[in-house]
Amino acid sequence: MDYIDQPIAARKRIALVAHDNRKAGLIEWCRKHRGTLEQHQLLGTGTTGSQIEAATDMVVEKLFSGPMGGDQQLGAKICQGEVDILIFFWDPFEPMPHDPDVKALLRIAAVWNIPVACNASSADMMIHSELMTRSFSRQVPDYQGYLAARKGELAV
Ligand code: PGA
Repeated sequence: MDYIDQPIAARKRIALVAHDNRKAGLIEWCRKHRGTLEQHQLLGTGTTGSQIEAATDMVVEKLFSGPMGGDQQLGAKICQGEVDILIFFWDPFEPMPHDPDVKALLRIAAVWNIPVACNASSADMMIHSELMTRSFSRQVPDYQGYLAARKGELAV
């Protein structure tokens, strides 16, 4: 796979997701970093997004609830270049009915080189990065090049 540079704006699109046992932890993290988070655009899975809005008064674009397809919606947005950062407090102690969707979301974040934080200390490190407040370039797969190469292969 070849990679190309993709510009990331100073104002980031930050996706917030937490499993039920981790929601209180994510809400606490959002409260702690509210001053920084409100300078960015927030989105999240349905229940996580609603609870963060209620607890912090920040505006969060809400997708479907995770078990109803919200993780997959988020994955699609990552493919389409509509998410810059994923904060995903997944529960390491409980199996989930939508485990395949959770795995798919983490995989697609790796494919598109999205910064991912799965716990509060990683999220703390990320939010204190100097890249949070300025634009920078991220390497992403060269999808047009991938299509052109596939076309060549299929023509043979
Ligand atoms: P929820 O989904 O925010 O709707 O609870 C999160 C998840 O389970 O992935």
